[in-house]
Amino acid sequence: MLNILLFGPPGSGKGTQSKLLIQHYGLKHLSTGDILRKEIAEQTPLGRIAQHYIDKGELVPDEVVISIIEEMFAEKNLKGFVFDGFPRTVAQAKALDSMLIGIKKTICIMIVLQVSEDELIKRLLNRAKIEGRKDDELSIIENRIKVYQNQTAPVLDYYKAQGKVFIVNGMQPEEAVFKEICYNIDNFSQCK
Ligand code: ADP
Repeated sequence: MLNILLFGPPGSGKGTQSKLLIQHYGLKHLSTGDILRKEIAEQTPLGRIAQHYIDKGELVPDEVVISIIEEMFAEKNLKGFVFDGFPRTVAQAKALDSMLIGIKKTICIMIVLQVSEDELIKRLLNRAKIEGRKDDELSIIENRIKVYQNQTAPVLDYYKAQGKVFIVNGMQPEEAVFKEICYNIDNFSQCK
C-alpha cells in the first residue's frame, strides 16, 4: 500500500497536488476538509459540530476527525491513500499510526509543500473570489495560519523522527511541484 501524507499550510496547494497524485498512482484521496464541508452542506449532526470550528478557522476536535478516518479504513482492496489535511495534530498522527499498524501498514512518505506566508494569503484571498469559501476571509485566514504554526507544525517533527519527511518548493508552477513530489515518492518512499 502506498500511503502518502501531503502536508503544508492552508493554501500551499495540497488539494491541487492530491488530485494529480491520486490519478498518477491510483490512490484514494482522503481530505478531512472536503469530508467536513460535505457534512456541513448536508447539515448532518457531525456537520453542525464541525461548522462551529471551521467558521472561526479553528481545528475540529481530534475525536471527531479521527472517527471519520476510521470509517474510511473499512474499505478493502485499496492501493493506498493520499492524506490531505490530516493529521493536523500530533494526537491525530498517533491515532493514524495505530490504525495503520492495525492493518500492518504504514505511512510511506510525508511531502511538505513550502510556500511563503505572503503567497499563502494571496492564494486564499484569490480562492475566496472563485469558490466563495467562508473561511477564506482575511482575519480567518490569518487565524488558520497561526493554528497551523502552533498545532499542526509539530506533526512535522513527529514524522521527521521516523525519517519520512521530504520538503518540496511549493512556489513553483503546478507541474514542476508535481514532478518534484513524484521524484521524492519514487526514490524515497519507505514502502516497496
Ligand atoms: P486548508 O488546508 O486550506 O485550511 P482544509 O479544507 O484542509 O483547508 O480545512 C478547512 C478547515 O477544516 C480547517 O481550518 C479545520 O477547521 C477543518 N479541518 C480539516 N481537517 C482537519 C483535521 N484533520 N483536524 C481538525 N480540523 C480539520
